[in-house]
Amino acid sequence: MKYYVMTLFPEMVRQGLNTSIIGRAINRGLLSLECMDIRAYTTEKHGHVDDYPYGGGAGMVMQAQPVYDCYQDICRRTESAKKPRVIYLTPQGKTFEQKMAVEFAEEETLIFLCGHYEGIDERVLEMIVTDNVSIGDYVLTGGELAAMVMIDSISRNISGVLNNDISAETESFSDGLLEYPQYTRPEVFMEKRVPEVLLSGHHANIRQWRREQSIKRTCERRPDLLDKAVLDKKELELCKKYLPIS
Ligand code: SAM
Repeated sequence: MKYYVMTLFPEMVRQGLNTSIIGRAINRGLLSLECMDIRAYTTEKHGHVDDYPYGGGAGMVMQAQPVYDCYQDICRRTESAKKPRVIYLTPQGKTFEQKMAVEFAEEETLIFLCGHYEGIDERVLEMIVTDNVSIGDYVLTGGELAAMVMIDSISRNISGVLNNDISAETESFSDGLLEYPQYTRPEVFMEKRVPEVLLSGHHANIRQWRREQSIKRTCERRPDLLDKAVLDKKELELCKKYLPIS
């Protein structure tokens, strides 16, 4: 996977993704990350990349020219015949979720466009953007954190990025349910014991306990997810027990 991030703050994105699992995947060559400084493409003699909004109103708007030229440069660098998807991070986009992370992970190249100030001149967005994506119903100062959230989450679905690929398959959302609770050593912490079944070594019982815990947790914390989860008859009965009474 090749990621390009178009931003006014390339260092922020570079540093934000340079550690832990994603940093290691970049160092191992499983992912590549190019942070493109939009400011480097401005033809304005003082280096400006924004201006006042036509029609008045608060704040500044990022200009079309440097964004378009930066995009053209990325297109020149990408080898594939197919034009890569361009994701504009915006609170006006479709809300990012696990299913989208899995789908984006199948692309060879992804371009992220980060806005700042009041956003970006609509004309260049119309020309280059293929996907408008939001990371939630709140407003950030810029798209950089949102791009980092997406890159982190997409990368977990790329083979080899996680040491153990199974873990992505059992995590929350993978089967429409939240993941079961996790425990590690010691067996007793401040008089609280690890559930006995996890120490039993009985794999079938552990699997069943975890499945029940996933259902219980989803009922209690995110009952809205149950509509899409695949549950058998017994599990549907279990939901009745755990669903908060409204
Ligand atoms: N004026 C814009 C509006 O009301 O839709 C908001 C602009 S916001 C202050 C600046 C930039 O932050 C946006 O261009 C976008 O790139 C990014 N951003 C803000 N909130 C976001 C969110 N929830 N998800 C993704 N990107 C976001």
